[in-house]
Amino acid sequence: MKPIEPVFKEITGQLNAIKDNIQIIAVTKQVDVKRTKEAVHAGIRHLGENRPEGLASKLEAIEEDVSWHYIGNLQTRKVKDVINEIDYLHSLDRSSLAKEIQKRASRQVKCFVQINVSGEESKSGIDPANAIDFIESLKDFDKIQVVGLMTMAPNTTDEQIIREAFKGLKLLQLQVSEKHWAHAPCTECSMGMSNDYLIAAQEGATFVRIGTALVGSESEAKR
Ligand SMILES: *Cc1c(COP(=O)(O)O)cnc(C)c1O
Repeated sequence: MKPIEPVFKEITGQLNAIKDNIQIIAVTKQVDVKRTKEAVHAGIRHLGENRPEGLASKLEAIEEDVSWHYIGNLQTRKVKDVINEIDYLHSLDRSSLAKEIQKRASRQVKCFVQINVSGEESKSGIDPANAIDFIESLKDFDKIQVVGLMTMAPNTTDEQIIREAFKGLKLLQLQVSEKHWAHAPCTECSMGMSNDYLIAAQEGATFVRIGTALVGSESEAKR
């Protein structure tokens, strides 16, 4: 696999050319602890995992002060294992999950509400039409702070369709932030992965989540 540092520098440069202060989350779900350490030594300060087991093994191995992002679907019964270990949850998508977080969190958790902008059935996330009501309802949970919205791009190579989805998320994020709800500052937009992070940056992402194009993947390494 390619050394991470030059790739990180290149992506950082690409993003800075579009907008300042876009945070890069290295998604390490497909790589081992050694490769994750390489990412941290390259200067990466945000790490993303999508399974409790993967998170636990990386947490144990990394001593540096990094921010931990949980980016995948979180089963309600796994909340207790994860919620006090992470800095950000990117997949708040249902009331039952909010209730469990409220019960298990020992401090306030920064959450992104996941939105299913494309409406694809295979994707989790709140229907955009219900997003404002859902976010308003979260005011009852003092362990949850809605820092922003998150989405996954539709499964297509059509750049225009992807761009429209990201535009939609940005618009919704601005609508929520303009409500000035104390529990939901909603200033952040988590969107863009290996194949579409530049489009996401152009459309106002503040966090991009990059796995394969930044740290690679084990399956790629075996090919
Ligand atoms: C795996 C994953 C990513 C990173 O995907 P790549 O295509 O490897 O960059 C980003 N976000 C979520 C939610 C993921 O599950």
